[in-house]
Amino acid sequence: VGQKVVLAPGVSCGKCAACLAGADNRCREFTNLGYMIDGGCAEYVRCPEVNCMPYPENLSFEEAAAVPLVFQTAWHMLVTRAQLQPGEDVLVLGAGSGVGSAAIQIAKFFGCRVIATAGTDEKLAKAKQLGADDVIQHRIMSIRKEVRRLTHNRGVDVVFEHVGTATWDDSIASLAVGGRLVTCGATTGFDAKVDIRFLFSRQLSVLGSYMGTKEELRIVLKLVAEGRLKPVVDRVLPLASCAEAHAYLELGKQFGKVVLSV
Ligand SMILES: [Zn+2]
Repeated sequence: VGQKVVLAPGVSCGKCAACLAGADNRCREFTNLGYMIDGGCAEYVRCPEVNCMPYPENLSFEEAAAVPLVFQTAWHMLVTRAQLQPGEDVLVLGAGSGVGSAAIQIAKFFGCRVIATAGTDEKLAKAKQLGADDVIQHRIMSIRKEVRRLTHNRGVDVVFEHVGTATWDDSIASLAVGGRLVTCGATTGFDAKVDIRFLFSRQLSVLGSYMGTKEELRIVLKLVAEGRLKPVVDRVLPLASCAEAHAYLELGKQFGKVVLSV
């Protein structure tokens, strides 16, 4: 009692074949604290004991709160789904988002070259601070043209998608032969087309990804505790300003996470 913990956001049944295999994010009952279960924007939250993870003592509560969802999701996408290999070229869309800022760091941890996109120069400068090798200002530049230029027309091995309709065509067009597109979201819309001729002739893979497993969160928290991955907090607001925090997120001006404190 009284021990500091980080809560794994994913809640699953704990007894189905997927859960027993450690793939709890494939459980048919899988959901998240604060999504289908009340909690998150609250002073108290009730959750299964198994969701309590070791607390990285080098972090403040606000920093620790910014880790689980985005780092776990980005790790599952890049490492488990896209099978990221050292030295590969990775295009990270939306560098200022929570998952984007996590993905840049994870790809760099694997010794990859990272090309990151964002809509403002300020965000691109922060992406570079996180380790991005090259950046693309997507409001004034064509993502696919810049990727082709930066990779000597080869394209990237992995595209980290979560933006959806607005970037989908550029994402597919940015892939090298044998490239993998991995996605965890559709913020700008879910309608997309794939030219099947390119899909097979260029041997592309399109991979869906949803959250991550508790084991992946354990790995991520260990790397955070060692200072090898760093949570990115844009700002901290009091719980009473929850509505203001959501309005701020909808403006899309943040870089990293917006955290509510109690
Ligand atoms: Zn289950």
